[in-house]
This record gives sequence, structure tokens and C-alpha cells, in this order.
Amino acid sequence: MCIPKPYWIDPDLSDFEIEIIKVENGSFFTKESLPMFLGGGGQPPDEAILILDSKTSFTVKNPLEYSFKLKEKVQKEDQLSLPFKGKLEINLNLRRAYMRAHTSQHVVSAIIKKNFDIDTSKAVLEDDESKLILNKKLSINQLNLVLTEFYRIMNQDLDIKTRVIKKGQNKDINGNSVDLGLIRGDIPSKEECIRLVEIDGVDLNTCGGTHLLKTSEALSIVFTELKKDIITFKVGYKAIQIMKDNQEFHVNLINKLTLPYKKISERTLEIVNSYPKIQKLNFDLSKTFLKSILFLIKENFSKEVSPDFEIKQGSFTDEPLKKQNLPIEAKIYGKTLIILMKLSFMNRATFISSIIDFSFPTVLIAEIEKKNLICQSNKETIFSAKEFLDKLVKRSCVKGGGSDKQIQCSIKEVENVFGIIKSILENKN
Ligand SMILES: [Zn+2]
Repeated sequence: MCIPKPYWIDPDLSDFEIEIIKVENGSFFTKESLPMFLGGGGQPPDEAILILDSKTSFTVKNPLEYSFKLKEKVQKEDQLSLPFKGKLEINLNLRRAYMRAHTSQHVVSAIIKKNFDIDTSKAVLEDDESKLILNKKLSINQLNLVLTEFYRIMNQDLDIKTRVIKKGQNKDINGNSVDLGLIRGDIPSKEECIRLVEIDGVDLNTCGGTHLLKTSEALSIVFTELKKDIITFKVGYKAIQIMKDNQEFHVNLINKLTLPYKKISERTLEIVNSYPKIQKLNFDLSKTFLKSILFLIKENFSKEVSPDFEIKQGSFTDEPLKKQNLPIEAKIYGKTLIILMKLSFMNRATFISSIIDFSFPTVLIAEIEKKNLICQSNKETIFSAKEFLDKLVKRSCVKGGGSDKQIQCSIKEVENVFGIIKSILENKN
């Protein structure tokens, strides 16, 4: 016998009367199979509550075919004599969000298979979002076609039909024939009763999960990631939220750039395309800038280095630098130059590469943004970046990591970094 699950017949049914016949080790055993989706195919089980009366309800956990547990402890006064009945109420909003993600996943996978002969190896489903791992790389142009196709299918408002076939048969349980050759993916070999999910002209697939009844119920789709063979997309209200945010962004751009809407994406692409050039320019400029600062410091202090020698912000002899009032501070300990600076005007790659090829032993500590520090040391310095991190971890660093010569961390509050350095050096003596 093939008994369809309640959500196979109507995925919008949410209230069921259930009878509990046994309670053992915190598990509640039901007389009939539990009318909720139990999870599978990359999708978690339905969320549900068990309602005993208007004042007593519990959250269901670990649902199985004939049993479940409860999240809350059952108090003495709630204990009931067996058997007893209760109402099982499924969280329909959450189920619908999963249905949108799941059904859209079928449609997206079918479009990709049909047009590019690429299979979906794995799908990870969340509420109103889905991640697909494909067996081949998908290009951006191919993804654009998927998007167009998805909207076409969604707007056609096609029925999502389901039926059940028995193992090894090419007829469904109502006697209608099924062309097994059209089924996308493998047919499960273990199950006696196989459920088909069918969208006319789009897809035929085997699946036991929860699905929408119409393609239009997906509401919307936004692709948020394309990484070789991985695509991620959001549907339903999550996609609508992104579209709303994008709309706001575009309206602001239209306003700021006084460009017509049609020109906005063109202009944005232009800017994006010029980005590597700007980045390279910024890289070269900031590298030269840092080197010249280091050179000036070296020129001033490298001849005779006293352990107590120090320079404060703005004390550079070079006039143009002084005028810039740079957020930079330097001290020399032993034969190591220690520089503190803000990194807001320089990218991280510049910072790292500049120090590595600098000949004077230097430790450069920079504040990337508030409470985020990066430290880079080169050869033969009095202490390494790693030692600095270790000291910070002991004091205030909450998160951090890196190699011996290069670390990054976030601190609770910006402390007197020179004070920390001083204590490192004191411990060394
Ligand atoms: Zn499915």
C-alpha cells in the first residue's frame, strides 16, 4: 500500500489531531504516523507545537515516523493518562519558506540540466534560500539565462503536480502511465512507493518533500553567488527584500549621479571594470608613500640608535610630511623601528609587501579600522608580530591569528600600544 503523506496531498494543512499511546524515556509514541515532514534531501524537518489545551503547549523536537520528543520539560500537572489526544500545529510560515526554496531548487536544477546538461550534485536548503553544488562549472551568461527562464516559468503560473508510483512500475497508483525515462536524476531504489513531482514541460523528478502548488508562489528570485560550480539564490520574501534594497540603492544613485535609470547599470559596470586599475594605482601610490615615510624615519634615526629614542606624531623634520599631520607615530627600541599608524589610506597588500622588502628591522602596527589591528614584522626585529599578538591575547585581544611575521586581531578597546610593546621588551630582559 502506498499511503500518501498529508503534505503530499495538501502542503498547506497545518493542524492535525494526534493520539499518543505511549511515553517512554521522554519519547512520545503516536498511534499513526506523524503528519509532518521529517526532513531529508537537504531540508530540515517541519517545526511544530503540540497543543494539549488552551494553556498547555510544547515544542516538538526529534520527530520520527511514530514518535517525537518535546523541547520543554513536562510538568507534573500536565501529565495525562494514556492514551491521550492533542493538536499538532505546524509552523506554516516556515514550511512555506522552505517550500519556496525547495520548489525553486527543482526549477533551477531542471533549467540547468535541460539547457546545459549540468546535474545538481547537492542542494542545501534554508528558508527562502538555497545553495546548489553542480557537477560542472556554470558561467555568468548561463546563469543569466537561468534567471530569464526562471521568471518565465514563474510567470506562467504552472501547476506543480505530484503523484505516486510503485517500485518498478511505469504507471502511477491511479493507472496513468509515466515515462520513467523523463525523470531527472536517479530513481530511489529502496522505496516501495515513489513520489513524482512534475511541472509540465519543465521538470519530472522524484521527491518526498514539501512543494508549492504553483510556480508563481516562489514570488521572486535573486542569485546571490556564483562560484564556479556553486550557485546560491534567495526566493520569496528574502529575494523581495534584496530587490527592495537594490531599488533604494538605485534611486539614490539616480539622485546622486543625475543619470537616467537605464544608464545606471551601464555606469556601475564601467566603474566596476575600472576598479582593478584604480586598485593598482592606489597600491603603487600608497607603497611609495609608505616607503618615503620609512625612509625619512630611517634617515633621521638609523645613524645612532639609542634605546630611549622616540619620535612623536608630527615631529618629522620634513616640512611637507609635517603639514599632512599624519596619523603616524614611531619609536626605536634597540635596533628596531616600531611604527604605529592608521591604515585607512592604504590597502592591506601594500602594508604587507612594503615591510617585507624594507631593509631596516621594522615592526609596523596599523589600525585598520576601530579596534582592528594588523602587525607585520620583517627580519631581525626585537620582537615578532606573533609575540605582539601573544601579548595582546593575554591582555585584551578577543580574536586574532596569523604567522610569526604577520598577524591580525581585533581588540576590545584601543590601548596604549607602546605600553604593550614596553612590557614585551621588559619580559625579554
Ligand atoms: Zn522536492
